[in-house]
Amino acid sequence: MTTKSTKNATPKYDITNVPPVGATSYDLVNGIQRHFVRTLGQDNRSHSSHYNYQALAFTIRDRLMECWKDSREASCEADGRRAYYLSLEFLMGRAMGNAMLNLGLDEQAEQAMHDLGIDLEEMIDEEHDAGLGNGGLGRLAACFVDSCATLQLPVTGYGIRYEYGMFRQLIKDGAQAEEPDHWLRNGNIWEIARPEYEQRIHFGGRTEQYRDDAGVLRCRWVDANDVLAIPYDTPIPGYQNGTVNTLRLWKSAATDEFDLGEFNAGSYPESVASKNEAEHISMVLYPNDSSENGKELRLRQQYFLASASIKDVIRRWVEKNGNDFSQFAAKNCFQLNDTHPTVSVAELMRILMDEYHLEWDDAWEITSKTMAYTNHTLLPEALERWPVYLFGRLLPRVLDIIYEINARFLTEVAKQWPGDVERQRRMSIIEEGDVQQVRMAYLAIAGSYSVNGVAQLHSDLLVEGLFADFYAMWPEKFNNKTNGVTQRRWMAMCNKPMSALINETIGEGWVTKLSELGQLAPYAEKAAFRKKWAACKRQNKERLAEVVEQVCGVRFSPDAMFDVQVKRIHEYKRQLLNVLHVIHLYDRIKRGDTANWTNRCVLIGGKAAPGYYMAKQIIKLVSNVAEVVNNDPEVGDKLKVVFFPNYRVSAMEIIAPATDLSEQISTAGKEASGTGNMKFMMNGAMTIGTLDGANIEIREEVGEENFFLFGLTAEEVEATRGHYDPSAIIAADEDFKRVMELLECGHFSQFEPGLFSSITHAIRGSDDPWLVAADFRTYVDAQQRAAEAYQDQKSWLRMSIFNTTYSGKFSTDRTMEDYNRDIWKLEPIKLK
Ligand SMILES: *Cc1c(COP(=O)(O)O)cnc(C)c1O
Repeated sequence: MTTKSTKNATPKYDITNVPPVGATSYDLVNGIQRHFVRTLGQDNRSHSSHYNYQALAFTIRDRLMECWKDSREASCEADGRRAYYLSLEFLMGRAMGNAMLNLGLDEQAEQAMHDLGIDLEEMIDEEHDAGLGNGGLGRLAACFVDSCATLQLPVTGYGIRYEYGMFRQLIKDGAQAEEPDHWLRNGNIWEIARPEYEQRIHFGGRTEQYRDDAGVLRCRWVDANDVLAIPYDTPIPGYQNGTVNTLRLWKSAATDEFDLGEFNAGSYPESVASKNEAEHISMVLYPNDSSENGKELRLRQQYFLASASIKDVIRRWVEKNGNDFSQFAAKNCFQLNDTHPTVSVAELMRILMDEYHLEWDDAWEITSKTMAYTNHTLLPEALERWPVYLFGRLLPRVLDIIYEINARFLTEVAKQWPGDVERQRRMSIIEEGDVQQVRMAYLAIAGSYSVNGVAQLHSDLLVEGLFADFYAMWPEKFNNKTNGVTQRRWMAMCNKPMSALINETIGEGWVTKLSELGQLAPYAEKAAFRKKWAACKRQNKERLAEVVEQVCGVRFSPDAMFDVQVKRIHEYKRQLLNVLHVIHLYDRIKRGDTANWTNRCVLIGGKAAPGYYMAKQIIKLVSNVAEVVNNDPEVGDKLKVVFFPNYRVSAMEIIAPATDLSEQISTAGKEASGTGNMKFMMNGAMTIGTLDGANIEIREEVGEENFFLFGLTAEEVEATRGHYDPSAIIAADEDFKRVMELLECGHFSQFEPGLFSSITHAIRGSDDPWLVAADFRTYVDAQQRAAEAYQDQKSWLRMSIFNTTYSGKFSTDRTMEDYNRDIWKLEPIKLK
């Protein structure tokens, strides 16, 4: 490889003497013009705003590069403990607005674009979202790396550079259609390839025993097909602190000697074509949110990430420390984002033993003090299990090690509970049955020194239920880390009017210390402040209304209450309950029950996994209800409904600031945390929600009088099993009966009667796990309270201000401080 550094080729660069780039608007104008002409080869006949975007992006990137280099050098010099965030998903969204904010270049960029006669908003809109994630779990990883850079923590993100990210969602005749997201088609200015750090990843082959030079019996993985992993680095700037951390994403590529056999047999094109198999590994993100589909390619992706990332860390370790691993666990920590990268546990064991010849006990001591695992869900369908036969075929040596980990682990279980064979069967990392399976969550717990849930309720339910046996064995491993979101992206960047108002009121400290928002409390009582607050919200609502009109063709009046539910479409999130309420409002209008009416604009958005039938039915239902409601002159402005297509990070940046009422209505005990709920709260929305996930903590922070609570508790949900009779609930509730009649008579599917029968049957099923009918009445009543509260604008604005005021806990800065205090124990890296 020509990019490998060689001693005799060290050039005499004086990199301390590169001319500085400057941070005035004049410097930016110069940079833009230079990149437009010299980097992009454009001239005055070019009018494509895409080149304008690229010229600005290169100009901003120039300003990241030196800080990035300085941060790498500072981290290398500090030589302290580091953490690695391993995640199959990073839902980054756009980079440019965030980079400008964090570099402190917002105002200069605006001035520069003004001087050049270019619309900055239009430029920002040119950037394609980096949609390398499904939803909350992937967005969490993105918020985490932002906060780590701002806190100057030495944390590197490791993920996969999918060629195709999350699909683009189109709505055709009211139904979801998927289109591939080729986000790299126009290039990606925010990444730098680092082929000099490529790694070789093994697949297939078999395990072989041999005696080393000292006559010791050892194992090695032979006859494998290797695939190359090539790193692409993205800079992660901290907030105005000079730190730029790294997100390292791996792309798969074929090795040069790929299928030499066929090549020699004279089938050159076939041989080159077979490179495809290697390149497929990083081709596409699996679009399943909280469900696993057990495809071989997915396991390949998981091992590809784990192996490449661990080898990368070990490469750096060995460069500095040689083969001495005695301090490895003291200096390194891998945080596993769900079970997806859990094969890391066995991979680190393999490398330490097979490649560096450590004994089992030493390797295990290091591994189990280096790994930490975050659980993200209690839903059984999301718990990863891989068939042993698949593991054995793809990763034979790794499977050997998992068997050995399990054997030793079960010996420990037997020691602690002698004779309790049933417990051993329950806790085994290998599940017995027709098809043996590897239970990835159990491997993660056995191999980690920390196991955390993502909100207090979720962490409590984990140790009481799913992981109770493991909690009995290792109570000290378990802890809670309530999620958060970064206020840089989710307030400062996306809600400029509100941010400016807060800055002029209490200063800018909240941008890095969100709890300072608490100082807003007294201003909630001041009419002048409330008026300004209302003006900000109105401006944001007007911006969203324009987008809604453009993409949905429906006019939202900013005078109406904006009632929003955006998140992945899933039965447990209960978009259905929301639709039932919308139908109920429509029914009230039609029967003339509209005294003291509050006009509402209901926006529902989110992607359905392509193979999830019910989720797709729900999208179709929302669309059909919207069609009927929006075209009924009798309804008019009283109610508008849209299904907002292609929900993504850049859409949420417009939606959250404009929302009055945030729908967080999952069946209690099913939503691990939620983070959408936090973005809305920060932007001054009221929540209507159940006692689920982080909603509980949101309500604790803002006060029960500033939260619309309804529904069964998690405990009541569990107690309902076995005696749930939805049809009786419907029959006893006149409003509910009418809603079901409208659905069942085909009012929303005039040309396709029975179209929604799977939905109505699900609601009426006594086995409905989501208990939609059980919560209908209390939900409708809570909605009525919200509607009445909205009419008293003075009181509503106070509540809105309080939501922002008391959102301090939900910053990922706090979350990362918690991880660091309890799990990572890293020293911040101050720059010179
Ligand atoms: C925040 C966010 C999510 C998570 O939303 P939840 O309501 O917590 O499920 C999903 N997708 C996108 C694009 C987000 O920004």
